[in-house]
Amino acid sequence: MDKLAVLRQYFGFPAFRAGQQTLIDAVLSGRDALGVMPTGGGKSLCYELPALLLPGMTLVVSPLISLMKDQVMALRNAGIPAGCINSSMSLDELRETYRDARYGAYKLLYVAPERLLTDGFCSLAQELEIPLVAVDEAHCISQWGQDFRPSYLKIVEFLQRLPRRPAVAAFTATATAQVRADIIRILQLHEPETVVTGFDRPNLRFEVLRPKDKRTALLQLLSERRDKSGIVYCATRKTVEQVCGLLQEAGFAATRYHAGLDADERKENQEAFICDRSPVVAATNAFGMGIDKSNVSYVIHYNMPKSVEAYYQEAGRAGRDGSPADCILLYSSGDVTTAKFLIFNSSAENEELTDEERQMVQAQDLARLEAMTGYCKTQDCLRGYLLDYFGQPHEKTCGNCGNCLAEYETRDLTREAQMILSCVVRARNRLGYCVGASILSQTLHGGRSARVRELGLDLLPTYGLMSALPGAQIREWIELLERAGYLETDPVHGGIDTTERAAAVLFSDEQVLARVQRTTLAGPRTQKKAAASRTDQPLLAALKALRFRIAQEQGVPAYIVFSHILPRVNGQCIAYRYHNLNRQRIDPLHSGVSRHGHTAKTVYNSLHGHTAKGYHAALQRRRQAKTQNQGGIHFVKTEPYRGKGKGLLLLP
Ligand SMILES: [Zn+2]
Repeated sequence: MDKLAVLRQYFGFPAFRAGQQTLIDAVLSGRDALGVMPTGGGKSLCYELPALLLPGMTLVVSPLISLMKDQVMALRNAGIPAGCINSSMSLDELRETYRDARYGAYKLLYVAPERLLTDGFCSLAQELEIPLVAVDEAHCISQWGQDFRPSYLKIVEFLQRLPRRPAVAAFTATATAQVRADIIRILQLHEPETVVTGFDRPNLRFEVLRPKDKRTALLQLLSERRDKSGIVYCATRKTVEQVCGLLQEAGFAATRYHAGLDADERKENQEAFICDRSPVVAATNAFGMGIDKSNVSYVIHYNMPKSVEAYYQEAGRAGRDGSPADCILLYSSGDVTTAKFLIFNSSAENEELTDEERQMVQAQDLARLEAMTGYCKTQDCLRGYLLDYFGQPHEKTCGNCGNCLAEYETRDLTREAQMILSCVVRARNRLGYCVGASILSQTLHGGRSARVRELGLDLLPTYGLMSALPGAQIREWIELLERAGYLETDPVHGGIDTTERAAAVLFSDEQVLARVQRTTLAGPRTQKKAAASRTDQPLLAALKALRFRIAQEQGVPAYIVFSHILPRVNGQCIAYRYHNLNRQRIDPLHSGVSRHGHTAKTVYNSLHGHTAKGYHAALQRRRQAKTQNQGGIHFVKTEPYRGKGKGLLLLP
């Protein structure tokens, strides 16, 4: 069987996606490989497929036990013999897995890195033919990565102990050039075939909001998305509790997830989210690793995360089904303080580090935080900012982010700039150090806060100079002056000082022109969307209810029944499922789907872009496929749709 046939038969894809074929060819020819692909980019296929074609058993090193179980389950469903070894298994289960592996029962074996050097596993590995070792989440091996795991270093020793070195393929979703270099160096990859595929996810709309009150803003955002499923990420456990309480009080079926809950509750809440019993989850960054829920239609960050890597990974959990999804970050400058606190605390807690290493890790973390803060403050295209970070070229504007959709006007802010800069200078001269944006804006606004008086800043001539403006506005202009290069923030202490450029404004009347946001253009778009979802409602709702019921009956997550239910124009829907269609699961649909008066042609055209030729070709395929026509509704096994799984086209 060739690789294309395997791709179709076992994975249900018509063709390879970007980068996959190159990596697979390299691995099949015994070469090392490094694949950097965004979440949802099809990384796992790059080792799953070769494993079926190579002799012996492929080893997959993965840090995520929950992901491991899901992957093994999905593979077995598709008829691929796979097993896993990790610390959550009982002794009996382990023994059984070892025995099966010895008998050659698996083509793929997933193993947690900390098991690699145990005696039992080493002797197993000596006996078996292992043509390929795939290292998932390979950035964990790098101290520069945001998720360094010392157990990953065991992989190197494990490889050295094998009688014959297999091909090694490393995969990660997030890696800057430095982390990439680290992966190659530490894993000792031999001239690996390296593929870095597109990080862009055009269906995601990015937006940064700076609400006065995050709670109100969150409730507003969620009430606009009542029938949708989403994740609200918070920086701390405490915030998760508060946000979850807030949402439940407001009548949302929300649940919570963080490392402080016991294992049973975490599992239960996660399942409630996956099965859509609680379509909203408030969570810390502990949530989401290993969760492949395709219908998450928004990810809201209640706090700014610590790095762009973390942000992109978490936000990337939205819109996995390819339909439009929102990634909204609610920014406040307090988030920077929280993030710094977390950075200093987490490196202080890590006892494995020497003082020198600790300082290096902190400096790295602060640099990453600064890049993240830059994202929240930029006025340029947000997508562009993210792609820049991952080193991918892009258009200047994307037309689908908060900044591209916002309207700006140019304003002369010279006078305001002079007031702010002069206040910065005077406060510094008085105190002998620099204060942060919050104290500065209070001073300029003329606030009576204890801190301002304590520092004697109410005695400065600039005190109350901008009393007509709200503090938030002053802060916005302070940020604006920083972006324009007149001010800079000390990354460690948060104090703000003037730069050399400030002198020209203060003493030579240099003009400060700024692009100031007028309004966002999000309004009409939301309305259009709302109108569309009204027309789609009956069939969509019927399908979702049905999916829910089947899932309950069979005791599986809803996305296993249909991973995607997508509304189309004029009330048509497509539902499809990863991997093989199963007759049993189609049957209950017959009774439940409401009927709509549309022809196959309009459905097809709405899905595939309006060519008659394409329609007739599809019709041809449809005749070849077994069409089931019951109760006036056709169920057609379609060609794989959007490169994922087989589809069920529901035709009236
Ligand atoms: Zn943009």
